[in-house]
Amino acid sequence: MRLSKMYFKTFRDDPAEAVIPSHKLMLRAGLIRREASGLYIFMQPGWRAVRKIEEIVREEMDGKGAQEIHMPAIMPAELWQETGRWYEYGPELWRIQDRHGRDFCLGPTHEETFTAIARADITSYKQLPANLYQIQMKYRDEDRPRFGLLRSREFIMKDAYSFDADREGLDKSYDDMYDAYTNVFTRMGLDFAPVEADTGAIGGNNSHEFTAFSEVGESDILRCPACGYAATDEKTPGVDDPAQDDVAMLPLEKKETPGTKTIEAVCDFLGLDKKQSIKALLFQTLDEETLEVNGYVAAFVRGDREVNMIKIVNALDIPEFCLEFADESKMGPVTGAVGGFTGPMHLHDCKSIVDSELVGMKNMCAGACEKDCHYINVNYGRDYEGDIVTDIKTAQAGDRCPVCGKPLTATKGIEVGQIFKLGTKYSESMGAVFADENQETHPLVMGCYGIGVTRTLAAVVEKYHDENGIVWPMSVAPYHCVIVLVKPKDEEQQKAAEKIHDALEKAGVEVLLDDRDERVGVKFNDADLCGYPIRITVGKKAGEGLVEYKLRREDEVQEITVEEAVEKAVS
Ligand code: ATP
Ligand code: MG
Ligand code: MG
Ligand code: MG
Repeated sequence: MRLSKMYFKTFRDDPAEAVIPSHKLMLRAGLIRREASGLYIFMQPGWRAVRKIEEIVREEMDGKGAQEIHMPAIMPAELWQETGRWYEYGPELWRIQDRHGRDFCLGPTHEETFTAIARADITSYKQLPANLYQIQMKYRDEDRPRFGLLRSREFIMKDAYSFDADREGLDKSYDDMYDAYTNVFTRMGLDFAPVEADTGAIGGNNSHEFTAFSEVGESDILRCPACGYAATDEKTPGVDDPAQDDVAMLPLEKKETPGTKTIEAVCDFLGLDKKQSIKALLFQTLDEETLEVNGYVAAFVRGDREVNMIKIVNALDIPEFCLEFADESKMGPVTGAVGGFTGPMHLHDCKSIVDSELVGMKNMCAGACEKDCHYINVNYGRDYEGDIVTDIKTAQAGDRCPVCGKPLTATKGIEVGQIFKLGTKYSESMGAVFADENQETHPLVMGCYGIGVTRTLAAVVEKYHDENGIVWPMSVAPYHCVIVLVKPKDEEQQKAAEKIHDALEKAGVEVLLDDRDERVGVKFNDADLCGYPIRITVGKKAGEGLVEYKLRREDEVQEITVEEAVEKAVS
C-alpha cells in the first residue's frame, strides 16, 4: 500500500477533547474520529487494528469449539420484558420505537436473544454442549462516555453464550473460555490478570473480570504480589458491621480440636448424599449458582445441627473441608465453626458469618492458624477486625490475602473482558429447557462471556506508547512495516523502495510505502506516531544497495543491505 494513495491524515497537536494517552494518540494517528459524545468513526488504520483483534478473538473462540453467528443489534422489548430486564436495566439501555410505536432496544448485551434461539432450537441433551458467539456493535447510553474507546456509547463486543446440561458442563465451558481469554490477551501483549468479580446487571454469581493493569483504568483491583490472587473491590450491598455493644468480652482461648472432618464425613453425619447435600445446604442462604466446591466451604452449625454454608472462595485449593460441630465443643447452643485448616484463611470467615444473616451471633469458633487448632469465643470486630480479608469487595490495600495471607496492594485496571456463570437465570425465566435421557426436562445451564474489542484496542495503545506515539505490538499493528522513501523523485531510491515493498508484500508482510511528497522529518514523525513495528528508510545510500533498518521499540538504527532488510522484516 502506497501512502500517497491512502486516505490518511495525522494531527500534530493533542486534541482538546482527550485527556488520556490512548485517546489522544488514536485521534492524532488518524485511527479514530469523534462523531458525537461516545460515538467514534474508525478510519482505515484504526479499523485494520480492530480487525486484528477480532481475528485473534475468533481464532481463540473457534479453537474452543465456539461458533460464530450474527444477531441484529436491535431487539424487541418483549424479549427483555420476559426476563424483567426491560424494567431493571435503567437509563443505560438505549430504547427506541418503530414507526408503529412498538418498543425495541439497541442491544447492550444479548442474553435474551441467545436464550431465545436456544429455546427454539435445543430440545435434547444430545445437542449439548453448545457455545455461540458474535462480534458486534453494542450500545450503552453511558452516564459519562469518556476516554475515547475505553468508555463509548457504541462499541464492539465479542459476546458468547454457552449452553450445558448441568453444572459440570458449565464448569468446563467456563474453564474453556477462561483459557481462551487468557490466550487472547496474552497474544496482544497486555499485562493483565483474571480477577474475581462482581456480576452486575448480567446476573449469576460466579465471575472473573479480565483486567489490563493501567493507571487510567476505572476498575479498582486488589492484588497479592506474593501469590497473584486478584479481585475487584466493587462493593456489593453488604450488611453493616454488627453493633458490638452487647458482645460479651470473652477471653480468646486456643483450643485443640478433636480433628478435622471431610465433607463426606459431614454429609454422612447429616445422612445426606454429598452432592445433594451441598446443594441443599447452599439453598438455605445462597442460590444455586454458588454451588462451587472448588474452593473452600465454611459452615456454621447450630446446636440443632442445621448447617449453613456461608462462604465459598474459588481458586483456593484446599483438599478437605474442616467442620466442627457444636456438640463437640463447649460453646453453647449457637456456635460458629469456620472451615479451612491451612494458612490463615479461616479468620476470613469470621466476618462472613457476621456479614451473613447471622449478624449478632456470638461465640464463634474461628479455624486454625495452626493445623487442628481453633480459637473459640471469637467475636468479629473485637478480635479480628480488618485483619484477614473476608470479602474482597470490602477489603483494602494492606489487608491480608485470603489465599496466602500476605498483604494486598491496590492497583487500577481496564476491564477488557468478563466471564460469568449464569446458571439457569435466563433459561428459567424464558423457559429454555431440554430433555435428558429419561425425557425429563431441565432448564439449560448457561454461561456468558464478553470481550470489549474496541476497549481492548485502547488498552493496547495505553500500554504500548511513548512520548512520540504508538508502539504497536506486531499482533495488533495495522501495518507491520513502513518504508520511508526519503526522496520519491530520486529514481534509485524509488526503485529500491519499491523492490523492498513488493518483496515484503509477496512474503505476506503488511507494508506501507511512504512515498508522499513530504519532508523526511514529517515522514519519520508520522512513522513514530503511527507506531509501525518496523521502519526501513531508503535514502541516499540506495545506490550502494544500503538502507536503514529500525524497530519502533528500539533506538538503534542499523545500516544493512536491501536483501538483509527484506529478510529481517519477513522473519
Ligand atoms: P464497565 O464496568 O467498564 O462499565 P461492564 O462491566 O459494564 O463494563 P460488561 O457488561 O461486562 O461491561 O461487558 C463486557 C465487556 O464489554 C467489558 O468487559 C468491556 O470490555 C466492554 N465494555 C463495556 N462497556 C463498554 C463501553 N461503554 N465502552 C467500551 N467497551 C465497553
Ligand atoms: Mg458498565
Ligand atoms: Mg464492570
Ligand atoms: Mg463487566
